[in-house]
Amino acid sequence: VHTEKNNLIQLQEEAAKLYHHVLVNTELGVPALKYLHDRKITDDMIETFNLGFAPGQRLLKPFFENKKADYQLLRKSGLFIENSDGELSDRFTNRIMYPIRNDSSKTVGFSGRILHKDPDIPKYLNSPETSIFNKRKIIYNIDLAKPSIRNEQNLILFEGFMDVISAYQAGVKNGVASMGTSLTNEQIYQFNQLTNQVYVCYDGDNPGQKATKRAISLLGDEGQFTVGVIQMPNGIDPDEYRRKYGNDKFKDAIKSARETTVSFELRFLKTQYDLSNDEEKLNYVDAALNVIAKIDKPVERSVYLKQLSDEFELDMNALTVQCKQIRSTFINKRQRKQVRMLKTDTVPEVL
Ligand code: ATP
Ligand code: MN
Ligand code: MN
Ligand code: MN
Repeated sequence: VHTEKNNLIQLQEEAAKLYHHVLVNTELGVPALKYLHDRKITDDMIETFNLGFAPGQRLLKPFFENKKADYQLLRKSGLFIENSDGELSDRFTNRIMYPIRNDSSKTVGFSGRILHKDPDIPKYLNSPETSIFNKRKIIYNIDLAKPSIRNEQNLILFEGFMDVISAYQAGVKNGVASMGTSLTNEQIYQFNQLTNQVYVCYDGDNPGQKATKRAISLLGDEGQFTVGVIQMPNGIDPDEYRRKYGNDKFKDAIKSARETTVSFELRFLKTQYDLSNDEEKLNYVDAALNVIAKIDKPVERSVYLKQLSDEFELDMNALTVQCKQIRSTFINKRQRKQVRMLKTDTVPEVL
């Protein structure tokens, strides 16, 4: 059936084909192809992800006009910008094009990357929201990753498209990314349909770590997951790591750098304090105890308390007592909340 949505998808698919053709078969695509090769992306990946290039001149406009495409449809496609006279021109110019596919492998939008650093232009430009492109719902690479997520029984959440592609090239195929925006409930819901184990593998820089903290708390609140963190050493991003150390080391890191959310949180917390200063050291220990006190399993709590005790030469008993105190205030709060809920809700038959 030729609904408007189908026609819009058709348009995106044709645009993707054209961008790809320009990249791999034409003179105009040479610098972009070189850029991708310099980033150690193989031709195989260029095909798998249907990467393309939008040159610095009119491309889609004449192409679709020749095909007598419907003006209203072109307007709604997000592939063009419109001036005040209603005239359309290509939205993406001079950018490497990453088609964004939905769950059923249909191209529904694009992200375009500039080739050279330019402080005046955003590095990535995404298609605007359209009736087929909803950034809250779209998960990059979900279509290709699905079988691996089921096989591996876990999903790896990356920060950027390049990380997903890089990992895929190294054979780590259960990776996905959100659309540059922070993680949404809609995406978490879709993860939960596939798996109950998620690893957050964001960039090792400060923004990446902050985003990791947000992502693990969202995943914990909105989904039924065991959440873990994978962070590449030395503050770099997964793609940079693979480029620098190769596929095998990258795959090793993906397996060996896995840590619990608690160990990530403590590591991150520690960077916020100047530990050469006694007062700040105590503040860190206090903050760390607040993290540890939230753990429900006593043995797990004792593991982290022992670490803290060893690291700062603190008395294990004192730490345990203080952790218990903090924990009892949490538990009191939780119980008060439950009592409130019991009073307002109908009482369940079996308590
Ligand atoms: P690259 O390796 O090509 O520089 P990256 O994935 O490492 O890309 P980051 O700067 O780490 O890029 O950003 C992570 C993600 O955030 C990107 O993949 C993209 O989705 C999004 N993003 C980054 N910069 C922008 C921007 N200026 N506008 C919109 N989205 C952006
Ligand atoms: Mn980043
Ligand atoms: Mn990055
Ligand atoms: Mn990167």
